[in-house]
Amino acid sequence: MCGIIGILGEKEAAPLLVEGLRRLEYRGYDSAGVATLSNGHITRCRAEGKLRNLAKKLGDTPLSGTTGIGHTRWATHGARTEDNAHPHAKEKLAVVHNGIIENYAELKEELEKHQYRFETETDTEVICHLVTHYLKEGLTPRAAANKAFDRLEGAYAVLLIFAGEHNLLIGVR
Ligand code: GLU
Repeated sequence: MCGIIGILGEKEAAPLLVEGLRRLEYRGYDSAGVATLSNGHITRCRAEGKLRNLAKKLGDTPLSGTTGIGHTRWATHGARTEDNAHPHAKEKLAVVHNGIIENYAELKEELEKHQYRFETETDTEVICHLVTHYLKEGLTPRAAANKAFDRLEGAYAVLLIFAGEHNLLIGVR
């Protein structure tokens, strides 16, 4: 059972996200990560194992930005690796996800037919590609997220941030 947190604030988000994840540490996890919006671009940092590994990486290479999302993962789909750790990100968005997308295999097949390439073994990555697909159709981030979530089956909680959208943090459960 993972931890999930989002901040849309005025202070640097990354240290606050890590502190928030620390408070959720009792839930157990195998990797951790954060993503922020820095000058309108998605940036992220992930690490296998304990939060201190993530904190160390962020100490060496800090992420700026006051909008961000964070996650501690309890793997259900895919190995416990940094590549599979959340947030998952594409050019236009970043996603953290708690739970399971039950129909991810069908969605993945459909998206692969549209030439989307998968970089992880997780069910979560279908969310990134599906929302990206609807953004490419010309929908706004809110409309693209709504259309994507209408298609996802399962019990889940998800947070999304979007490149160029400092005042937007979408949460779905
Ligand atoms: N199903 C997702 C994964 O395996 C999320 C797991 C979780 O709730 O941490 O990455």
